[in-house]
Amino acid sequence: MLAPRRLALVLTTLAVVASALLQGCGDQQGAASTRASRTAPPPPAPRVEETAPSGVRLEDDFDLYQEWIDGFARRSDLALPSEWNLLESGERMPTGCGDATARSYLYCPADNQVYAGETMMSSLVDHDGVMAPGIGLAHEWAHAVQARAGITTAGPAVEEQADCIAAAWYDDVAHNHPALHLVGTPEVGPALTDVGAAEHGSGTDPAPDAAIAAAHRGIGACSDYFPERPLTGH
Ligand SMILES: [Zn+2]
Repeated sequence: MLAPRRLALVLTTLAVVASALLQGCGDQQGAASTRASRTAPPPPAPRVEETAPSGVRLEDDFDLYQEWIDGFARRSDLALPSEWNLLESGERMPTGCGDATARSYLYCPADNQVYAGETMMSSLVDHDGVMAPGIGLAHEWAHAVQARAGITTAGPAVEEQADCIAAAWYDDVAHNHPALHLVGTPEVGPALTDVGAAEHGSGTDPAPDAAIAAAHRGIGACSDYFPERPLTGH
């Protein structure tokens, strides 16, 4: 895997500009003022480095989403898959659940791995915004969380709970990464619907609105779909 070449967004505060302007004024006000500024230099300018997905460099975005999902999972005591796999155009990879391709977006319980295809990532960007592939990956990760919790059936309630977990992840990311506003607000509901259609065929998944509403109450609300099988602590 190539080294990440992420879009680094450097947010510089107004304090930097103010400091530069003051320095400039000091230089024009005579030797005493200049000496004072040399003996007492201003503190280093505060810099906040933020990273955001590009929607174009899909391999870098894939790494970034993994990092964010990993962080949320650890802080929330939620399970992770044993491996994340990214498939390029034309690639075919055997899995415990049949072959994966660049059009795949799936979690395979037989090998506890997530498989994501770049063609599907591009399609999600085009339809639902730059963050949509991450929301879809979070849905696939959610199936790994469910598997570890012993939720092994299939059906609308399982998909709705996975949507809830993915939406809770997105709420967390949006809260912790303020630079995301620079790439726009994603269409969370349509992204989840499109990923569901890619997994199971259109029309087989419930509308994710209720799941997204539940997710705003935190990951605990997502456990309420199957209260006898809590999602955390596995
Ligand atoms: Zn699903």
